Amino acid sequence: MLRYLVIFFTVVGITTNGQEYTTSSIFAHNDYVHPIPFLTSYYQQVGFIEADIFLQQGELMVAHTRQEISKGRTLEELYLKPLVDKINTHNGFVYATQDKPLTLMVDLKTEGTTTLKVLVQKLKLYPSLQRCPTFTLVISGNVPDPATWKDYPAFIFFDGRPGRPYTDEQWKRISFVSTAFSDHATWNGKGVLTKAEHEKITSLITKVHAAGKKIRFWGAPDFPNAWLTFMNLKVDILGTDDVAGLSKFIATKQKNTYQHTTPHAVYQPRYNFQRNTTPKNIILMIGDGMGLAQLYSGYTCNRGKLSIFNMNDIGFSVTESTDNYITDSAAGATAMATGSKTKNRFVGVDSAGQTVPSLTEKLKAQQYSVAIISAGDITDATPAAFYAHQPERSMNEAIAFDFLSSRVDVLIGGGMYAFKNRKDGKNLLTELRSRGYAVADCFNSLDTIQSKKFVILDDQAVVSKKNGRGNFLAQSILKSITTFGSSPFFIMAEAAQIDHGGHNNDMEYVVREVLDFDQAVGEAMKYVDENHETLLIVTADHETGGLTLPGGNTSSGYVLGSFSTNDHTAVLVPVFSYGPCAENFRGVYQNTELFTRLSALLALGK
Ligand SMILES: [Zn+2]
Repeated sequence: MLRYLVIFFTVVGITTNGQEYTTSSIFAHNDYVHPIPFLTSYYQQVGFIEADIFLQQGELMVAHTRQEISKGRTLEELYLKPLVDKINTHNGFVYATQDKPLTLMVDLKTEGTTTLKVLVQKLKLYPSLQRCPTFTLVISGNVPDPATWKDYPAFIFFDGRPGRPYTDEQWKRISFVSTAFSDHATWNGKGVLTKAEHEKITSLITKVHAAGKKIRFWGAPDFPNAWLTFMNLKVDILGTDDVAGLSKFIATKQKNTYQHTTPHAVYQPRYNFQRNTTPKNIILMIGDGMGLAQLYSGYTCNRGKLSIFNMNDIGFSVTESTDNYITDSAAGATAMATGSKTKNRFVGVDSAGQTVPSLTEKLKAQQYSVAIISAGDITDATPAAFYAHQPERSMNEAIAFDFLSSRVDVLIGGGMYAFKNRKDGKNLLTELRSRGYAVADCFNSLDTIQSKKFVILDDQAVVSKKNGRGNFLAQSILKSITTFGSSPFFIMAEAAQIDHGGHNNDMEYVVREVLDFDQAVGEAMKYVDENHETLLIVTADHETGGLTLPGGNTSSGYVLGSFSTNDHTAVLVPVFSYGPCAENFRGVYQNTELFTRLSALLALGK
């Protein structure tokens, strides 16, 4: 009985739906053109290697065209011997990881029957290849008539074609099914397939899978957007000339992908404040490392909603420091806190290392209550710039010591070590208590603390959201607000770990920190609507990770990120404002303007 693949739907084997992609899905197209054939692909642990061969004077020459045949480049030298060498090294398996398979696809460029006969003779010289359970040899190109396949040794398999008739016996000799992409679609790999082409390709793949075979396209677009599309279509074998690129794409795909399952309700602002009145209170919320792509990935995962995006007054802040195109958190936060651009690593001091007064100090002089909050180490650069003055961000103990003279009322974050277990033997907690602060090392004490001045240093703050940090940021802001009562106040609250997610190139980390931040911002917006006298500013010190978003879906809350670096980038960052005089923060300006404009608004002097 003949099997016509395009008509038959019989389920012969397992379907490959729901598969996880590994480098075993990679097909090294024309492998021999790599500067180092075989080993380049082998060390990426690919699943398929292709070699084109010509029969010439009894030898099997590896080349793309007859003109390119060059002496010594035989199938034996380039592939069979190195393969046998690896199999001998790995106790009979191709790779050190024993279940990793490898298929060598030999594309016969000269007449099939004669060329294959010579190939069979050559292979007989290497019995370890035939015995290897993870090695498969597949013949493509000028494949002999399927009626003759039964005459070849059992270890020879063939490349099948959709639409061609095969008997059951012949079908068993087919390793996978290949077809020219251009026979099914005109898509160039950019954007998306047309609906018609998508349906046509999906139907073909479904049929091949239903018949129990894997599918490969040749001549298909070969870059990230195309790879991703083929993975989503469940194409089993991904042909590429860029083995290293596809290998990295597959290796990082899991960490670059995140789907959020518990979206939060966003806050719908009521805008019931007077635009042209001077605000009494300021809440400054800093998402460390939060650029537009970080925000948009949060928006995508939260099903197309963010409280932050419900603010109408929007600006952009230029983050460059005095000694670098790309700022760090120290120079970035110092610019916002003091209005002075400075060098990277400098905290609360100008480029010459001189102390510059911060917003915190100016506001304390005007009887404001001040809270500094960080979902991270409280002596890290961003919070430190609001209470310390040191020429080096890593001087955590000196930074902690500066807190004593800052007169800040509330401090909440992680980093107890810099206050308690110090090299100078001082216990700053004792000192703080003697100055009237309530001190606690457990975040839960937030509920019970009655004091107007308190310090809570709990390393729960430095735990990432994905590792179980609770509703730390929002609760800390709300507690500070209730503590301050009717006193005018300034709260700086930092989402420190959006930056960590960027440095780690980890999308789940980034998104969950952004969404935690957004929930805290939502609470702050709600307070602005209730209080009428508070200005909320939400911004970042810089972008981290060079994040772009090559894929995502706002309906399902899935996002695919791509990081271009594991460090900060120069791109400007957004400023969202809500509350009286929010319009003062529109435009594109230097990050120092946040200090300058707030100082002008609150008549703090220069
Ligand atoms: Zn950073």
